[in-house]
Order: sequence, then structure tokens, then C-alpha cells
Amino acid sequence: MENCIFCRIIKGEIPAKKVFEDDLVVVIEDIAPVAPLHLLIIPRKHLVNALDLDPADDALIGHVYRTAARIARDKGVAENGFRIVSNNNAGAGQSVFHIHFHLLGGRQLGWPPG
Ligand code: 5GP
Ligand code: ZN
Repeated sequence: MENCIFCRIIKGEIPAKKVFEDDLVVVIEDIAPVAPLHLLIIPRKHLVNALDLDPADDALIGHVYRTAARIARDKGVAENGFRIVSNNNAGAGQSVFHIHFHLLGGRQLGWPPG
């Protein structure tokens, strides 16, 4: 999508600190971190959010979760606790309308979220 900021990051048109990439996802550091570890797991496929998923995307979402868990382990936040969270539509705080999953860790995380 031409004007999608995450598509442009994936294409390399906008710089970002990439920590991992493969054929399905790109993982970058969030530009405005809210925790010591705040990464974004971004599927390469432009989907708006969970409402856009169809059965062909099931493997992609499994891959996202396994990638997040592996990175959480690698970054040393797995044992203390980490969160994988995705905001869907503006009322839930979604500000970039290309599906992505926040990986948060490295501090005590409050519940419920705001
Ligand atoms: P959302 O608000 O949609 O759940 O999450 C979007 C996230 O993308 C926010 O945490 C925001 O800080 C991050 N973000 C927005 N623009 C950029 C950017 O240009 N680069 C990076 N690395 N993160 C961004
Ligand atoms: Zn996009």
C-alpha cells in the first residue's frame, strides 16, 4: 500500500531499527517505546487488523506468535513476563492501519491495560 508507513518501512523507504526479518515478518524497534523492550512484529502482508484476517492467514499468525516468543527468550524477558498485544481500530488505540503486534517486556506490566 503506497501510503502505508509500515509497508514503506518493509520496503526500506523509511528507516527503522530492524531486529529480525524473514519471508513473513519484519521486526523493528518501536519509535516511541513504552517499555525497555518494545518491538513491533509486522507481517509483510498488508492487512488492516484482525478484522482483515481470513483462514489463509492462520499460519502467518502462528508464525508471529512463535517469532515473538523466540525473541522474548533471546532478549531475556521471557521468564519475568512479556506481552504480545495488537490494537484493533481507533477505539482500541490502533494508529497504524497495517496489522502489527507489540512485544513488550523488561518491566512489570499493569493489568488491565488502559
Ligand atoms: P498502534 O498505535 O497502531 O497500536 O501501534 C503503532 C506503533 O507504531 C506505535 O507504538 C508507534 O510508536 C509506532 N510507530 C509509528 N510510526 C513509526 C515509525 O515510523 N517507526 C517506528 N519504528 N515505529 C513507529
Ligand atoms: Zn501496509
